[in-house]
Amino acid sequence: MLKDWKPEDKSIDKATQEMIRKAEKEGIETAWDRLKAQLPQCGYGQLGVCCRICMQGPCRIDPFGNGPQKGVCGATAETIVARNLVRAIAAGAAGHSDHGRHVVLALKETLEHGTPYPIKDEKKLKDVAKKLGVPVEGRKAEEIAKDLVEIALGDFSKQDEEIIKFADAYANKKRKEVWKKTGVAPRNIDREIVESMHRTTMGVDHDPLSLVAHGIKTSIADGWGGSLIATEFQDILFGTPKIGKGEANLGVLKEDYVNIVIHGHEPVLSEKIIEAAQDPELIELAKKYGAKGINAVGMCCTGLELLMRHGTPIAGNYLQQELAIVTGAVEAMVVDVQCIMPSLVDVARCFHTKIIDTSSLATFPGAVHVKFDEMRADEIAREIVRIAVENFPNRNKDKVQIPKGKSEAIGGFSVEAILEALGGTLKPLEEAIVSGKIRGVVGIVGCNNAKIRHNHNHIVLTDELIKNDILIIGTGCWATACAEHGIFLPEYAEKAGEGLKSVCKALGIPPALNMGSCVDCSRMLVLADLMARDLGVDISDLPLAGSAPEAMTEKAVCIGTYFVASGILTHLGIVPPTVGSVEVTKLLTKDAMNIVGGAFYIEPDPIKAAKTLIDHIESKRKALGI
Ligand code: SF4
Ligand code: SF4
Repeated sequence: MLKDWKPEDKSIDKATQEMIRKAEKEGIETAWDRLKAQLPQCGYGQLGVCCRICMQGPCRIDPFGNGPQKGVCGATAETIVARNLVRAIAAGAAGHSDHGRHVVLALKETLEHGTPYPIKDEKKLKDVAKKLGVPVEGRKAEEIAKDLVEIALGDFSKQDEEIIKFADAYANKKRKEVWKKTGVAPRNIDREIVESMHRTTMGVDHDPLSLVAHGIKTSIADGWGGSLIATEFQDILFGTPKIGKGEANLGVLKEDYVNIVIHGHEPVLSEKIIEAAQDPELIELAKKYGAKGINAVGMCCTGLELLMRHGTPIAGNYLQQELAIVTGAVEAMVVDVQCIMPSLVDVARCFHTKIIDTSSLATFPGAVHVKFDEMRADEIAREIVRIAVENFPNRNKDKVQIPKGKSEAIGGFSVEAILEALGGTLKPLEEAIVSGKIRGVVGIVGCNNAKIRHNHNHIVLTDELIKNDILIIGTGCWATACAEHGIFLPEYAEKAGEGLKSVCKALGIPPALNMGSCVDCSRMLVLADLMARDLGVDISDLPLAGSAPEAMTEKAVCIGTYFVASGILTHLGIVPPTVGSVEVTKLLTKDAMNIVGGAFYIEPDPIKAAKTLIDHIESKRKALGI
């Protein structure tokens, strides 16, 4: 299949294809070249039946039944697959939840030592406080914030057996009863992650059922805990997103400007860089070096955070990160954590681009290290922007080629912004669902995957669903894909079914709504929960579904699992490394539906997947009598 792997087969996006061609011409290696070099990938790994947990291994189970059926210790395929899955969930939960912790600690620093991050959204602060039972009347924002910080940090450290406070406050009663009954209510975010590692270490838990149950518990600790905390505290510190315009794709880079691409996940860094990029002194310096100004743009989830809050242009999603550098027009790519390819340093060597790593967690050999410190955030951000500006004269103009492709996009659909657009309540949306104008809602999440034609599954699935009057909400690299393909424009509603089109036209919204970065999947949970409360049902009764059409990261595994744990049928567009166990596969794709009300559904073909998701939504409507 990869013999004549053309740029058009690697991505559906023209700007991306143009840069792949440039990379090929200039002999620059990208993710697709490295995937090709990896083929054929190991079948044991693809099935999830290899184990490297102890040094008696690696052990592999023969999926055809002819060779070994047990590892040296006696572990079967069922145990090995379940252990690998739980470790992936734990890693994903750790990524999101540690991000959440960093934001809480930034607010704590602000309260105790006065960082340059004042509380920006007092209304959100009070709303979150009220949910958690923190008194707000007659109290200063700082006092309320102090209590919230204590509760959030408590969810990372408390040692009792009670459900974490954030999940308790945000999830409705019916859902919590399901979790309680099945023993998957999380007690402490860090503890569930640590216990996942403990259970899966050599010679501990060997029962696929109890292993997967703990994986589910860990994912809930993330979705209704760590990720939710990240989103809510970011809104408090940086402002809750409001509906606004932005631009997306590689064409947002500007030929005559100092281009800075901010890539990664945590807005604690990116918020300050875009502020520094507007510093008149640095703009003057850029002009002195012959540039017209400074153009700071986003990439991946950090780009979505900026797009959501400030309308900052976003240069691309996961598979476009190397290609942004291939334009030859990037003075600096500033990175923090998650989804950042180590290869960026190699690509940057072919140009004048400086990769600047900023997180104490993530060091890139060959990069410029400017470690971020909240207390000196403004100073460090200016230093980073200065490095980029001073690099402008090193740009080789002959190597510059910026594709024209970019699209306008409306973003900023936080739950609060959606409520405001609907007049303060979800009723208009719920009425449209009850009347059948909107048949249901699908939440689409994250990632590109070099094994899947870039953006293809995201766009085909979205198009097919909106055609069938399904409203789409979503986050992560899906959101960037939609932004690049014009889906986040109100006029795209012309492509929707008649019912959805009429609702979009009445409200002036696109048929798919950008809810933010991958930690912001928690916004989708909050929305689903509000709807369930309004209608007096559980989330699992609603005409909803989820999808990760181009899933890639361990975070995506965790997100998919907490969607399932929240009672949502969740589609995966890539076959996960769990199919080597019949028992685990059955558990995840069938039995989970009877236990938690949601299950995984695996289908690489987005058209077939859309049909199943529509059928599922129709069956939920029937059961509700609507
Ligand atoms: S834990 Fe068991 S299956 Fe895994 S590597 Fe060790 S001996 Fe092999
Ligand atoms: S959506 Fe997936 S690939 Fe994209 S930035 Fe988030 S985790 Fe990474």
